[in-house]
Amino acid sequence: MPHLPDHLLAGYRNFMNGRYLTESGRYRELAREGQAPETMIVACCDSRSAPEAIFDAGPGELFVLRNVGNLVPPYEPDGEFHSTSAALEFAVQSLKVKNIVVMGHGRCGGIRAALDTNAAPLSPGDFIGKWMSLIAPAAETVSASTFMTATERQTALERISIRYSLANLRTFPCVSILETKGRLSLHGAWFDISTGELWVMNKETGDFERPVLE
Ligand SMILES: [Zn+2]
Repeated sequence: MPHLPDHLLAGYRNFMNGRYLTESGRYRELAREGQAPETMIVACCDSRSAPEAIFDAGPGELFVLRNVGNLVPPYEPDGEFHSTSAALEFAVQSLKVKNIVVMGHGRCGGIRAALDTNAAPLSPGDFIGKWMSLIAPAAETVSASTFMTATERQTALERISIRYSLANLRTFPCVSILETKGRLSLHGAWFDISTGELWVMNKETGDFERPVLE
């Protein structure tokens, strides 16, 4: 007998009776025509920072990649397993998205792990340690700042890592070429889970600011 946890089945029932019913035409159209999202979001796996919820997006609107700490690694065509780069390649080359948003969030466990280098690995593989070592230089610099509180260090690294990922995005030839041609825009954002505030990166200064909402 097929089985899923009860809360998932209950949620699915609600989805079919609610959102799917309301948007069934859209789902059928998407099935027929294929997806054509204009925006890719790189977000964290954290269950509290779901892009579809934060941006109130319907089916087919967002191409979402989630990984621990919403990091984009540098361009490394070395034949290894690069799931983030694969999603990026598909979004840019096949879907031809117009925007890529790297969205970090407050209280990120991945970022906390990058700051806490004394913590023991969660498993012998230490996959998180290896993955978060992408931002090790920035983490070391931020950790060394005794003028900041632990919370300030955490927020600082969350935002620095977004700028780092944006810089890495530009190491992918397909991204930098399209950005130069004006066909692709890169953006940074940071979501504060406790207040729901969204902070958006200013392209000129790199600072994070509250957007003016209509
Ligand atoms: Zn996170």
